[in-house]
Amino acid sequence: MAKSPPHTNRYELFDVTIPALVPIIPLRIGGGFLGCLMFKPNAVLLALGLAASLSLHAEPAHKLLFFTKSSGFEHSVISWKTGQPSFAEKIFNELGTKHPWTFEFSKDGSKFSPAYLAGFDAVIFYTTGDLTSAGTDGQPAMTPEGKQALFDYVKSGKGFIGLHSATDTFHTANEAKKGEDRYANHGKDADSYVQFIGGEFIIHGSQQVATNKVIDKAFPGFADAGESFAFNEEWYSLKDFTSDIHVLTVIDAPGMKGNPYQRPAYPTSWVRQEGKGRVFYTAMGHRDDIWTNPVFQNILVGAIRWTTRDVDAAIPPNLKAVAPEAMTNPPFPEPKK
Ligand SMILES: [Zn+2]
Repeated sequence: MAKSPPHTNRYELFDVTIPALVPIIPLRIGGGFLGCLMFKPNAVLLALGLAASLSLHAEPAHKLLFFTKSSGFEHSVISWKTGQPSFAEKIFNELGTKHPWTFEFSKDGSKFSPAYLAGFDAVIFYTTGDLTSAGTDGQPAMTPEGKQALFDYVKSGKGFIGLHSATDTFHTANEAKKGEDRYANHGKDADSYVQFIGGEFIIHGSQQVATNKVIDKAFPGFADAGESFAFNEEWYSLKDFTSDIHVLTVIDAPGMKGNPYQRPAYPTSWVRQEGKGRVFYTAMGHRDDIWTNPVFQNILVGAIRWTTRDVDAAIPPNLKAVAPEAMTNPPFPEPKK
């Protein structure tokens, strides 16, 4: 069951009897505006003491790595243009003004090691391709040991968040050619990264408005998402779901346009446990206007709070119950001769 976050002990603020008047001190804790208190000057010390004690209840601070190396296709939303932070990085920096979170932005795969990862509470991937090759963006490659360090880091109790093309990363047997194999499930023979993140990207069709049913409104970040939501987005057709995922959203695939979606409904967001650690994935995040969408941002905040262990949630495996035919993939389109 979800337990209360450690910083919500707010009501004690209003149990304090404040004599009267003079400067109005706005109190902000963890980005949340709590209201104004009025103090006599000699009550300012009391106020400072109060603020100090309240800070003990503030949202925990976290350091997160946002890793965006593109060994395959590079998305514009994570691209570094003219030395400026990417669009997605600006959104994370905004979230960092509302929560005590700092982000390191990197495309350097060579840094991945146990010592490097130990500096973060969670790692966020928006990546493509085989990250052990320099590939499209030419940024330094990850070593195989660096890839293993990521798995060990999460297993030890840390967090991982995969966004959008995080499932278009480390394809099984390097299926980058998108042949018939790309449309098959490989289960235990899938790449270790596919089994770690809980699924794999096959292909996408043209951008369109598609409806996603919210499966677990109790999961952090989904309280205001409604019974379902529908966005114009580049929707991924996904496969090879691990049987232990707890599905958060399911897309109305048969109702969508295009060959990639000629299949039964399947998950588009899920979580799973990796050892003592927590893995979150959502297929959303291609378009700029998804990043500014409050539903997506709430989901992102919930994902960070859950993977960094600010909040807990029950995540029983539910794939069979909520998307029973999810392992049926779209038909492989025979190449035109
Ligand atoms: Zn995309």
